[in-house]
Amino acid sequence: MPIDPTQPYDDSNIFARIMRGEIPSTKVYEDEWAFAFEDINPQAAVHTLVVPKGSYVSWDDFSARAPDEEIAGFVRAVGAVARAKGLVEPGYRLLANVGAHGGQEVAHLHVHIFGGQPLGPMIARR
Ligand code: AMP
Repeated sequence: MPIDPTQPYDDSNIFARIMRGEIPSTKVYEDEWAFAFEDINPQAAVHTLVVPKGSYVSWDDFSARAPDEEIAGFVRAVGAVARAKGLVEPGYRLLANVGAHGGQEVAHLHVHIFGGQPLGPMIARR
């Protein structure tokens, strides 16, 4: 079920629980601003999720409310994870789904990093 990105943040979501250590994850990176872990259902050879430590429902919420320092820290963390995974030279793709049309299922902002193989068309053909 897609989430409603206009609803207030609810810290019972699964990614908040992962960051609190209540649910296991395969952690790949952590800094002051962000936490990254492997997607449980990978859609590519590399499929890593990067989430901000702050409480934001979606990219919309984050871009509207987060302080500049937090936005900069998160964006740099996404880049750091991609570099650490060796994805820069072969290339990679970032994705942040928002709401129903985006197919967002977890109500804590997450950026998908896809790589490790040619990724095909930008969106599914209808
Ligand atoms: P989205 O559709 O953009 O909200 O993506 C949610 C992603 O979270 C999907 O790719 C799921 O496979 C992934 N996911 C859901 N639960 C977990 C979990 N416990 N650990 C890692 N990834 C998860």
